[in-house]
Amino acid sequence: MTLNDSNQPMDFIRVAVTDDLKAGRYDRVHTRFPPEPNGYLHIGHAKAMCIDFGIAAEFGGRCNLRFDDTNPVKEDVEYVESIQQDIRWLGFDWEDRLCYASDYFGQLYEYAVMLISKGKAYVCDLSADEIRDYRGTLTEPGKESPYRNRTVDENLDLFARMRAGEFPDGSRTLRAKIDMASGNINLRDPVMYRIIHTPHHRTASEWCIYPMYDFAHGQSDSIEGITHSLCSLEYEDHRPLYDWYLDALEIYHPRQIEFARLNLSYTVLSKRKLLQLVRGGHVKSWDDPRMPTLSGLRRRGYTPEAILDFCDRIGVAKKDSIVDIALLDHCLREDLNRRAPRVMGVLKPLRVVIENFPDGHVEDVAAVNNPEDPSAGTRTVPFSRVLYIEQDDFRENPPPKYYRLAPGREVRLRYTYFITCVDVVKDAQGNAVELRCTYDPATRGGDAPDGRKVKATIHWVSTAHAVPAEVRLYDRLFVKEDPDDVDEGQDFLANLNPHSLEVLTGCRVEPSLAKAKTEKIYQFERLGYFCVDPDTAKGRLVFNRAVSLKDEWARVEKAQRVG
Ligand code: ATP
Ligand code: MG
Repeated sequence: MTLNDSNQPMDFIRVAVTDDLKAGRYDRVHTRFPPEPNGYLHIGHAKAMCIDFGIAAEFGGRCNLRFDDTNPVKEDVEYVESIQQDIRWLGFDWEDRLCYASDYFGQLYEYAVMLISKGKAYVCDLSADEIRDYRGTLTEPGKESPYRNRTVDENLDLFARMRAGEFPDGSRTLRAKIDMASGNINLRDPVMYRIIHTPHHRTASEWCIYPMYDFAHGQSDSIEGITHSLCSLEYEDHRPLYDWYLDALEIYHPRQIEFARLNLSYTVLSKRKLLQLVRGGHVKSWDDPRMPTLSGLRRRGYTPEAILDFCDRIGVAKKDSIVDIALLDHCLREDLNRRAPRVMGVLKPLRVVIENFPDGHVEDVAAVNNPEDPSAGTRTVPFSRVLYIEQDDFRENPPPKYYRLAPGREVRLRYTYFITCVDVVKDAQGNAVELRCTYDPATRGGDAPDGRKVKATIHWVSTAHAVPAEVRLYDRLFVKEDPDDVDEGQDFLANLNPHSLEVLTGCRVEPSLAKAKTEKIYQFERLGYFCVDPDTAKGRLVFNRAVSLKDEWARVEKAQRVG
């Protein structure tokens, strides 16, 4: 095991980088994070960024942000902008090194001409379907294209005319002349350029031929002087092709190292599938709080600190695995437990009238802002005769081990008094709509002078002072640990959880939240962590539950149901 300067074991990439510096293969570290702007970044990209930006920082090097924008059909400035915003939000900085593969279109075109001139590339008139048929399979070699032996001059002429816009989309391609019998299918005369008469978000109509990702990626790394090109495992089989291009062009050669992608249980992490969720209306938007995108996680209430901690804990390996999404939630709870201010909010209100509390009287109660952080101080919360408590905190017929309010039972109201339920007012259907209670003035502050105990403390808000709010509760977006585990003829959408969103519109929260700012996160005591949604700007408070607290009762109840 190799240790770093702080005596921590290093992962295999850090070991490789250390070795390269020691051996003098490189005298500096320069990485890049290369998103294609065809979707929003997701938590898998956070892992990649922790590796790319993280390793550069640790070795005193640099990391470029490079948009691999080679396909105008799928790319958009909306994505370019969201990606930059999300990277900054996580706390990474590309400084002045914002690059685009499209900045190299001129250079890449010249590289292509060089390969044609060396007899290493040719213009092919096969259609996309024919190219696929000719390619062969893992067990069968491919067949050579009938256009493979065009002369250099003919190829130069045709390629120039492709560029000049003489031919329609899909009618011709430029292909590398490598080996149709190669065991690596990527080397069977891969396409380098295709004709696409679609304007590009940066180069507008300057080009009607565009390099394939594989023809752009390695050369872009080379042009930028990248030393370590770190990418996920699916690029391992493409590395021989990148090597082939760089060698054939005789240009600077970075070192590519692959790592396992992040896979998360109950989650899809593929931009194609995430796009399908958005386009199909299965979620509201890319930043829907159920999405594993960074913007969705942010809206839900995940913090950069929690995400970085998560990436740190999952580490870097070469072998594919599936990480339990509960770990991400755990990291969030740990972070928010330290930092989130505590407040009281009632999700499903039940009216309580305290019969012996004077009408019109308001008591200001001191409430602790964060028991984990004494410096956060206290705030006052108004207490009065009529309150709301949680419907769930009352049972007319309490089951065993249910210690909260019930007829004749006494409980503690958080920060204030003991109350006893003396009567239940019901509606025509027999549902409790109001509880009549009494309080014991001697228990102010939460303890009885005679030493009698209560087994539960419940939260509350004063009806006259509470602020109405909408609360959105989320569950997993998919019902299966592996969303791709489907019957024949189905796709991952078959595993969508129909109950992933529950909207509660009648909630009431304490008045200190009246002006809560978007993206601010609170702990609603006993209920979880809640983040102010941007929809709040539309005039009413909206909260997203980021994550619940651990619910002991649910576990007991479940155990009882089973037992
Ligand atoms: P997707 O497969 O989700 O569509 P992608 O690989 O096409 O993603 P890119 O924009 O090409 O997305 O990714 C930018 C970088 O992020 C690449 O270096 C890629 O290896 C890395 N990356 C993408 N998804 C993951 C993941 N799940 N875990 C780790 N790294 C990832
Ligand atoms: Mg990709």
